[in-house]
Amino acid sequence: MPDAASLYASDQPTYGMNSHAVHEALVEGLKALEHAGHAELFTSGLSAVTGALSAVVGAGDEVLVVDTVYGPTRRFCDGYLKRMAAPVRYFPAAATAGEILALATPRTRLIFLESPGSQTFEMQDVPAIAAAAKARGILTAVDNTWASGLLFRPVEHGVSLSIQALTKYVCGHSDVFLGSVATNDPDVARQLTAFVRDTGASVSPDDAFQGLRGLRTLEVRLKRHGESGLEVAEWLAGQPQVARVLHPALPGDPGHGIWKRDFTGAAGLFGAVLKPAPRAAVEAFLNRLQLFGLGFSWGGYESLAIHCDPQIRRSCGPSHLEGPLIRLNIGLEDPQDLIADLRQALDALPSPFGGDGSR
Ligand SMILES: *Cc1c(COP(=O)(O)O)cnc(C)c1O
Repeated sequence: MPDAASLYASDQPTYGMNSHAVHEALVEGLKALEHAGHAELFTSGLSAVTGALSAVVGAGDEVLVVDTVYGPTRRFCDGYLKRMAAPVRYFPAAATAGEILALATPRTRLIFLESPGSQTFEMQDVPAIAAAAKARGILTAVDNTWASGLLFRPVEHGVSLSIQALTKYVCGHSDVFLGSVATNDPDVARQLTAFVRDTGASVSPDDAFQGLRGLRTLEVRLKRHGESGLEVAEWLAGQPQVARVLHPALPGDPGHGIWKRDFTGAAGLFGAVLKPAPRAAVEAFLNRLQLFGLGFSWGGYESLAIHCDPQIRRSCGPSHLEGPLIRLNIGLEDPQDLIADLRQALDALPSPFGGDGSR
């Protein structure tokens, strides 16, 4: 500071927390990405989710959460939020705006959405839900990590808080944890800023730099992830060991209409329901993959696969899957190489045309 008076009166940053030039540049980039007037940085995607919830929800405020929400978000809602005396109820991903709002009470503060849903990729009519919630004075939040701000802009559709794990597509290399919350609601913006200040949710300048660097190539990477993902998804849907591919950009998907109306493209993450097979055969399939790594992250340059059944939690009834569920993150490799890798690994699964897991 140039002089003592400036210590308390300057409009320049006076302390490093989230106020370096690199933080400001990343925030400006995210505002442009999400078409939002305000964005706040968090140390991970999960801290953006929990920060958004903590910033706007108080004791006694009820939260309605989509049943297909990201698992750790559910854990926070069922643990911390409930302990802080904020009741949480779940509704099915297929619920309409009217059905969701019929659950609301005068104490309902926030409706938390995720579209497509975690693991099972159901689409929700976010604009209709946001409009109906707004009419009742209820906030809406969307975990927008799949669309990464580029393929869908929740705040343009009336959503109060758009949350992203920048860890995934924005950073893009599976080596940085970073999150963001964007909003056009000035009251929410004030609450988010106060939450970050009061809790010290400070992002390291090096991580912010990685986020900024990722933004510069997000569009070309995401286009490639999306196109390769669809190519692999379409191929997989035709395989005898596969019952169904869960990908909203596939024309036969139940969420395809909403995806086509609201989204400008596809990401590279989707699910595949296999024909019934023992757990050992599913694990053998995964173990045979050469090009795909086995790992939980996604949005990065390298393709990854997991089986989902051990981690799926649903409150509103079973998800009616015909067999085991796998999830694929399609990276930046040649999609034909990925298809060849899947083709040889699928031999580990039972099939009407041979391949019984014994090889
Ligand atoms: C990974 C992920 C998060 C959390 O991001 P982290 O940076 O790993 O904490 C939140 N939401 C969704 C949908 C995710 O896939």
